Amino acid sequence: MSDLIAAIATPPGPGGVGILRLSGPGAHRAAGQVFRPQGPLPLDRAPDRQLLYGTLHDPAGNLLDTGLAFISRAPHSYTGEDTAELQCHGAPVVLSLVLDALYAAGARPARPGEFTQRAFLNGKLDLTQAEAVIDLIDAETPSAARQAAGQLAGALSRRIDGIYQGLTDIMAHFCAVLDYPDEDIDPFRTQQLQEDLTAQREALAALLATGRRGQRLTKGVSCALIGRPNAGKSSLLNALAGYDRAIVTHIPGTTRDTIEVTVELGGFPFRLVDTAGLRESDDPIEQLGAQRSRQAMDQADLLLVVWDGTRPPTGEDQDLLAQALARADTILAVNKADLPGYTLSTLTRPDAPHTLTTVALSAKTGQGLDRLEAALSALAEAAFPLTGQAAAGQLLTNQRQTDAVGRALAAVDRAGQALAAGVTPDALLTDVEEALAALGELTGRTVREDITQRIFERFCVGK
Ligand code: GDP
Repeated sequence: MSDLIAAIATPPGPGGVGILRLSGPGAHRAAGQVFRPQGPLPLDRAPDRQLLYGTLHDPAGNLLDTGLAFISRAPHSYTGEDTAELQCHGAPVVLSLVLDALYAAGARPARPGEFTQRAFLNGKLDLTQAEAVIDLIDAETPSAARQAAGQLAGALSRRIDGIYQGLTDIMAHFCAVLDYPDEDIDPFRTQQLQEDLTAQREALAALLATGRRGQRLTKGVSCALIGRPNAGKSSLLNALAGYDRAIVTHIPGTTRDTIEVTVELGGFPFRLVDTAGLRESDDPIEQLGAQRSRQAMDQADLLLVVWDGTRPPTGEDQDLLAQALARADTILAVNKADLPGYTLSTLTRPDAPHTLTTVALSAKTGQGLDRLEAALSALAEAAFPLTGQAAAGQLLTNQRQTDAVGRALAAVDRAGQALAAGVTPDALLTDVEEALAALGELTGRTVREDITQRIFERFCVGK
């Protein structure tokens, strides 16, 4: 495991600067074989994290580039090992020649994520922080980046730790009672334990409730645009995309396919999907398009039905609205408000369980787009509430995390029920232990050591 690894850290393709990383035993020596500082000091004797200017060479000593380098000595580095970073020009050929030179100096290719994996194994990051590294790199919107940065800085870890400590206290209390029955320990109080369990149960439930929002932060709230051809769906998508900096994630081969853009509106990342429409047709390509549209509708968190306000709504319009409302909360965008003859028609609201918000707008002039943004973010806020908590970095953002917290919550629930039913404390141990194990899995820590340590700390047993 603790062998020497090397990789190019900057993305493929030409760029101003390219960076190579090395981590493991011998990192300084290997980097020093490739990089020759201009000054008298060889790289492996340079002070920690001090940039040196110099030249890069292949194993035969040929000059490859000029650049900068620094070293970090274990454990004060990202991975906790000896590391080195070399910076040269971001020329793909040069970078690959420097990488070959590092291999020749004894490094092997790093596996994906191996630097961060080493940071975790060496206790530099916990698992949720390691996940935040990749979330930050992949973030598509400012709010997703903020969550990941906060999580990387330890906001989620601290929140989980608080619950872990609370459960460890309960566990320590149980263990002390069971393992050392003759010691002089406060009498076991069911009422207090029940209250402690309830407090941790509530903390876990609140944490679990952040998962739906957190996952939408990384994936985006999906919203499908539906409507008859020429209603202005594509124009509206473009207007919304231009309204904020958008990332187009899929460009269609034909106009009957779907287009997706990710755009941040009102603090929420939205994945807007333009559908081909739902017309019944004999044309196989149109049929495929309609099938995709229906799929997009079924999978969307919210729906945006687009109507042309200059034309009287047809039965098909009314039918689309009914289909939308049967599936999800819906916004009816009555488009083309800039044209004469425009009317905001009042239509029969289909009988459906979801909410309907109507917005008058023009995709062409942009009027009403602010109201649409407000309506979209209000629906997203209602569907994925923060449950009144501070957000930055404290949300669960993936399935692994929500699964672990869900298991911890279920175990604490069982413990609480057993306690209420008068089961003896030892029977509860397994449940609390299981909750701790699930949280330990979440952050990647161990269980037993903490508990024993806590017993001696708090109860002075065996003194
Ligand atoms: P889609 O088939 O629903 O995607 O509709 P498009 O976005 O392609 O728009 C159909 C036509 O309506 C195009 O000629 C657009 O320029 C026009 N259009 C779309 N929105 C507006 C609007 O708000 N005002 C005006 N005047 N024209 C619009």
